[in-house]
Amino acid sequence: MTKFTPKHKINSFHPPKRTLMGPGPSEMHPRVIAAMGQPVVGYMDPVFVQMMDELKDLLRYAYQTKNPLTFPVSGPGSVGMESCFVNLVERGDKVVVCRNGVFGGRMIENVERCGGIPVVVEDTWGEPVDPNKLDDALKSNPDAKVVAFVHAETSTGCASDAKTLVDIAHRHDCVTIVDAVTSLGGTPVLVDEWQIDAIYSGSQKCLSCTPGLSPTSFSDRAIARVKARKAKVESWFMDLNLVLEYWGNTKRTYHHTAPGNALYALHEALLLLREEGIENAWARHWRHHLALKAGLEAMGLKYVVKEGYRLPQMNAVYVPEGVNELEVRQRLLAEFNLEIGAGLGPLAGKVWRFGTMGYSCKAENVMLSLAALGSVLSDMGSPIEVGHAEAAAHAAYAAQHAEAAKAARKLATA
Ligand SMILES: *Cc1c(COP(=O)(O)O)cnc(C)c1O
Repeated sequence: MTKFTPKHKINSFHPPKRTLMGPGPSEMHPRVIAAMGQPVVGYMDPVFVQMMDELKDLLRYAYQTKNPLTFPVSGPGSVGMESCFVNLVERGDKVVVCRNGVFGGRMIENVERCGGIPVVVEDTWGEPVDPNKLDDALKSNPDAKVVAFVHAETSTGCASDAKTLVDIAHRHDCVTIVDAVTSLGGTPVLVDEWQIDAIYSGSQKCLSCTPGLSPTSFSDRAIARVKARKAKVESWFMDLNLVLEYWGNTKRTYHHTAPGNALYALHEALLLLREEGIENAWARHWRHHLALKAGLEAMGLKYVVKEGYRLPQMNAVYVPEGVNELEVRQRLLAEFNLEIGAGLGPLAGKVWRFGTMGYSCKAENVMLSLAALGSVLSDMGSPIEVGHAEAAAHAAYAAQHAEAAKAARKLATA
């Protein structure tokens, strides 16, 4: 017998309760946490199968689509990404990838690993994908088969115009792969209206569910491409032809053991989204973004992204000159139980990223973030007036309340 001699004495793991204001995971609603603690049932149990059917309907609502093939891939957003590429890219296929941050870079990696030939459309980090550059790239590569881009670049907080980019791709007869990991549930993602072909997201960002699931949706056009492949999909696990037999509408057969309790949680998180109403969820992300922005700017912090392209759910701001950004984040965590995000790639050490995603997107989190940051910065010697940021955020909320009251009076007299 090998004896188990742990270095640390953990009899049971009880993480502290953190306020999560980073790039994901976001906090989970108590109902979602409770759903995860329900009993395990078999993946072919009729009650489980019914839950899966409802889950697919709820995902269609979140994605605003009628696509029959809409389901959560078992795996984090990165697996959803791979799933799209491995199914839609064959050896030798030319794929135009738009890169304006970290995740566009990962798409290029995926194309290469599928044996495809990436054609990269580069944009500066913090700027949206330029539709004209995509059009030019497709004109000079008429044999391109796929266009891929990130709708909401989490590394910078920048939104790109998905509808326009998809239109351009279709004019050149390409199918589209869209990364909606950070956008889904936070800002509009209109799969049918924008005619997106393959899209993936993550459970732990604006959907506020446990990490490890990747909602995906595939149009008929995308499925036709997969079915017309010359060679087998080079991943058994992600091959849509096989997954279809489990998640599709045909008689279910065993594919892999579904992560049941995580799926209960996603079902609950999507119910919460439906109860709130997706448009109300988008509006909520916008309201709290405006308050957070007012506070951050009152502290003199500058956004990475120009107004008009900013994602309400991902606020990247430059670290003030001379401030040790790591020390600030460490103190926020140790003293305020508050997690915010660091910069990635060329922005490492230069920015902080404040996520206001899903259940984390609420006034108490915005106010805590501003109060904690003001307190730590001031304590470290920055010329910050403690309380200024909170006052600015309060003013932003008050302006919203006044506006809402005005709109309500208008309705009453209409
Ligand atoms: C978080 C993220 C991913 C990766 O998702 P994981 O769940 O961490 O694998 C991909 N794309 C974007 C835009 C993201 O924000």
